[in-house]
Amino acid sequence: MKDRGLLIVVSGPSGAGKGTVMRYVFEKCPNMRYSVSVTTRAPREGEVDGREYFFRTTDQFIDMLHHDEFLEHQRVYDNYYGTPRKFVEELLDKGFDVLLEIDVKGALVVKKKMPETVTVFLCPPDKATLESRLRGRSTETEEQLKVRLDAAVEELKNAAEYDYVVVNNDALVGAEEIASVIRAEKCRTARRRNRSFLENLIYGGNTNHDDRSPHR
Ligand code: 5GP
Repeated sequence: MKDRGLLIVVSGPSGAGKGTVMRYVFEKCPNMRYSVSVTTRAPREGEVDGREYFFRTTDQFIDMLHHDEFLEHQRVYDNYYGTPRKFVEELLDKGFDVLLEIDVKGALVVKKKMPETVTVFLCPPDKATLESRLRGRSTETEEQLKVRLDAAVEELKNAAEYDYVVVNNDALVGAEEIASVIRAEKCRTARRRNRSFLENLIYGGNTNHDDRSPHR
């Protein structure tokens, strides 16, 4: 029996540098898959339907909501975002680790519904960096920028609710810290459904024992 994959949620305000850090994390964690969310927002330049997001109309989103297809969903700014439940469950059952890159409210919903989820909050090192990263993206108008900056400050207030806080001073270091969290969490005894390897070590291949406890 394969161990069920690990569900990891990474949040952080836009401007925390999530994109770059997470690209490195994926390089370090080949067993990890990205949960592609559904959104009603318009694609940004270079974004591809089914890769960054499933881009849907509000009517389509509401239809999915009525069919209970989301593990969680939130309105973020003026758009809806949702995590497709089936997509995530299937990957976890196949033994893949699944990464959700979602907002704070969504993260707390997932943690409540699935307490085994590991939550990581990615912070910018300081406010000046946060602002300059937001400006550097230049995908938003000045007004949208202010909304995102205020939202970022609000999100930062929730960092203490997360299992881990990683500061993104240097993207490679931040990525290594997140990868270390994932590696350590995967070694937790309670996560090892497939404990028969311990039985084999203890009893020398005689696996006629209860597989639920490593101590028997
Ligand atoms: P963006 O529009 O910049 O891609 O994302 C805006 C915010 O929505 C980010 O904080 C992102 O993490 C969050 N987000 C993306 N997908 C989901 C989702 O499925 N659920 C929730 N709750 N938030 C999401």
